[in-house]
Order: sequence, then C-alpha cells, then structure tokens
Amino acid sequence: MRIVQLASEFAPIAKAGGLGEVVVGLSRELLRLGETVEVIIPKYDFIDVKKLVDIRLDLPDFKCVEHGNPHTNSMWTASCEDIRIHLLEVRHPSGYFHRGEIYGCKDDAARFLYFSKAALTYLKLIEKPIDILHLHDWHVAIAAVLARDQFNLPIKSIVLTIHNGEYQGKCAAWDLDAIGLKGTDYLVKEKLQDTDPKHPKLINLLKGGIVYADAVNTVSPTYTKEILTPEMGYGLESTFYKHKNKLTGILNGLDLQLWDPGYSKTDPIEKILQAKEAGRNRLRRQFSLSNTRRPWVGAITRLAVQKGPELLEEALIQTLRLGGVFLLLGSSPTSQLQAHFEAIGKKYSGTNQLLLHFAYDETLSREIYQALDFLVVPSRYEPCGLTQMIGMHYGTIPIARETGGLKDTIIDCKAEGPQTNANGFLFSKYCKTDLNEALERAIKLFFTHPQKINTLIANGIRKDWSWKHPAQVYLDWYRKQVETSRKSEQISQKVN
Ligand code: ADP
Repeated sequence: MRIVQLASEFAPIAKAGGLGEVVVGLSRELLRLGETVEVIIPKYDFIDVKKLVDIRLDLPDFKCVEHGNPHTNSMWTASCEDIRIHLLEVRHPSGYFHRGEIYGCKDDAARFLYFSKAALTYLKLIEKPIDILHLHDWHVAIAAVLARDQFNLPIKSIVLTIHNGEYQGKCAAWDLDAIGLKGTDYLVKEKLQDTDPKHPKLINLLKGGIVYADAVNTVSPTYTKEILTPEMGYGLESTFYKHKNKLTGILNGLDLQLWDPGYSKTDPIEKILQAKEAGRNRLRRQFSLSNTRRPWVGAITRLAVQKGPELLEEALIQTLRLGGVFLLLGSSPTSQLQAHFEAIGKKYSGTNQLLLHFAYDETLSREIYQALDFLVVPSRYEPCGLTQMIGMHYGTIPIARETGGLKDTIIDCKAEGPQTNANGFLFSKYCKTDLNEALERAIKLFFTHPQKINTLIANGIRKDWSWKHPAQVYLDWYRKQVETSRKSEQISQKVN
C-alpha cells in the first residue's frame, strides 16, 4: 500500500506533543511491515537540518493559489530517523512557516489551510496513486474536503486521526474562499458549520474532516466513547454520533527508538532500581535536591487546563506534606498557568524537595522519567496520553485519572496491594479528594511495601508499549477501507 500522511508535527524535528511522536512511531512500524509510507509536513524555519539525511529538492517552484494570488512552493525530500519525509517549503509573504513555532499564531487556520492545499497540489502534480491519505487533527482535516471537492486525486480512501478533539480549528467562511472553496456553501449543518448555535457563521475544520473522511479514529477506545458525550465532545458530540459508524479507537504505541531508558524487561529489577537511583543522584547534584531517599513524584506536561493544573498543584502540596520530592517539568501554552506555578515555587523557596522547571526540554524530560518513582497524570480528559506509557517504560509508576487512554493503559493497584498485571494507581473523579486518596495509597505503599512497588515497576516495564501491535491494527483498518472503496467502485461501475 502507498500511505501518505499529512501532519503538522514530526517528532525529531517538529514536536509540540504526542501527535509528532505518533506520526514517527506509526510510520516507522508501517515501513517495517513492508508498506510505503510518506509523511508531508511544513518546512518550518526552526527545523534542525542536521537531523535530516540526504535532503534534496523533489519538486521545485510550483504554485498554489490563495485569494486569487499564486504563491511559490517547493517540495523537499529527506530521510529523518530512517523515514522518508517531504518538507513543504512555502514562500508566502506572511511567512506562514517562518514563525519559530508550530502553533499559537493568530492566523493558524489560514496557515494550515494553505499547507493542506499546497500539499494536495503537490500530490496532484506527481499523480501517483495513493491507497490511503492519512490526515492528523484539525490542521489538515480540510484536505478531506479539498480532495473530494476540488482535486480529483487518485486516492482510494481518506482517514482522519483525532489526537485531541478539543482543538477544532474554527475560522470564517472567507478563510475557505481563500483556498478556492466557496465558504458559504460549506456553512450548513451537514457540512462544516460549527455546532455552537451562538456562532452560526463559523466554519469548523475538524468537523469537515469527520464529515468528509471515509473513516475516523481517535487514539484510544475509551476516548472514542467519551467524545460522544457533551462533556468531552466539545460541541462535536452530535457530529461524532451521526458518523459513529465510521468511528473507531486505536491506542497509540511508543516509539522505542525515541524512548530508550538503557534497561529493559529482561533486566533484573535490581539493575533497573540502580539506574533509577543513579538518575536521581544526577538530578540531586544538578538541582541541589534532598539526598534522603524519599518518594519522588512528578509530572512532565504542557501546562494546559486539559492536564489538570489544580490537581497538579494539589499533588505538589500533598507530596511535600507526605515527605516526598516533587518535580514539575512544564511547558506553558498560557503563561498565566506558569505564573501561578512560579508563585507556588516562591512560597516553597528554600525547600530542597521541589523542582519547578518551565521549559520544553526533552533531555531533562528523559532524566526525570528515569528518576521518578511516581508520575502524576491528573488530566481532565486524555485522548491517549504518552507520558504514562513513557513513565512505565522507564520504571515509573503512574498515578492518573481514570479517563481516555489513561484508563486503557493503567491497571489500578487496589488498596490491599498489587494485583497481577497492576501497574499504577487510578482515581476516578476530577477532584482533590480522589487524587489524594490515590497519592496517599501510592506513597504509603512506597514506605511500607517496597516489594510491592517493585512488582508494579516490573509490570510496567514488562508490558510491550511499542508500535508493533497498534501499527498492525492501523494496517488492518487501512486494508478494510481500501476493500470498502474497491467494492463501492465495483457497484458504481455496475450501475453505470
Ligand atoms: P499532549 O500531546 O496532550 O501534550 P501526550 O502525553 O500525548 O500529551 O504527549 C506529550 C509528549 O510531550 C510526551 O512525549 C512528553 O514527554 C512531552 N512533553 C510534554 N511536556 C514537556 C516538556 N515540558 N518538556 C519536554 N517534553 C514534554
């Protein structure tokens, strides 16, 4: 099969969160399974070309029209992490992909609408048949609409993966005009009109992807059920419900080449514990943290409302109260939350049991995953969540809210001790009481039953978090779509 993926992220060179890792891990495993996989992303100005091998021009100087004006683009190809990728260089007067960042610009909708159209223009120009066009999140969801209504591309099936349904890409009908679609034609309930009755003039790009793609998945079975509810559908629950026959849930894997703790499931627990203690010693030295053996609790997260900042704060306070060390590595899409945590840091200044570090820092994240005893993930919702899986792969026990992919990957250790396969601590309601109950259970077990803690660590490490199984599930899903498209083509040929 020839599978072409359109995405805004590709982890080693352009990553903001889980999406970028998924695109890499899935692609790598599909290649291993013998499929042809190509990924198209924007050629952002910040991409470190040292991470690219064999970069060359694939298609120079082709035009893409926006608001009637042609702009020039070039498609580059390179190998990154042994995966062949295409980098779309956009020469646009607004410097669409020369902003030093992936998201967070006022014109994000216009930037990614343009990217989607230019990527399809390229695919049209090279005219190679595609079995699966795989779209990721709202940024490229419009490609499903463009491929059907504007480009007549030789594609058998279009699939959309929703990594986070809260982000939907809302814009004006005029933004669709820009890329040559008549915006007002799409401003109807059955098409791209936003579901919020207060904003009937808004276009919802993610909705467009759901309506126009042949099949849609989210990144865990539980989240697939949750998005059908008003609480977690963020206005799209009725759209998901209407299209539920094409909806499925496929749990993410972990790219084990990106995440290698240096020990594995075949190593004795003593070796793992030693490596984790060595990791703590490095951080103790670097950040002057307490030398006493205390439970280390922490989080590596975007500081966003979704990630449960109130409960992160509570976990911090309670960990310190219970004699532990708390580490937070937080990158902040809204600096307000960062300011709030900075103020907490000031309140506790002088303690050697707290590290608050506000940055997006992959090297430090690896050190922390290794050093922690417990990783708190108190999300309000979590489509899949990678941090708990990375944590378990590094021998760190998650304490998480029972939602989405957290529910699908963590097996709770009941109060009386670890059950077979138990690998973490879960709490159900989004409230301080429930979080504290789980946190206290974890810390109590740490002090009273270290052997049981070791069992939880071992259960987490022994599980295969790789892409092996999920990629096979994706492949079967793709094959089903191709087969469906073949059958419907046969039927339409007969009718004609
Ligand atoms: P999301 O995509 O919603 O942010 P995921 O759990 O799916 O959440 O993926 C988060 C990824 O981003 C993980 O690889 C995690 O290690 C990484 N990450 C999050 N915050 C930071 C940070 N401040 N520094 C380094 N890596 C981070």
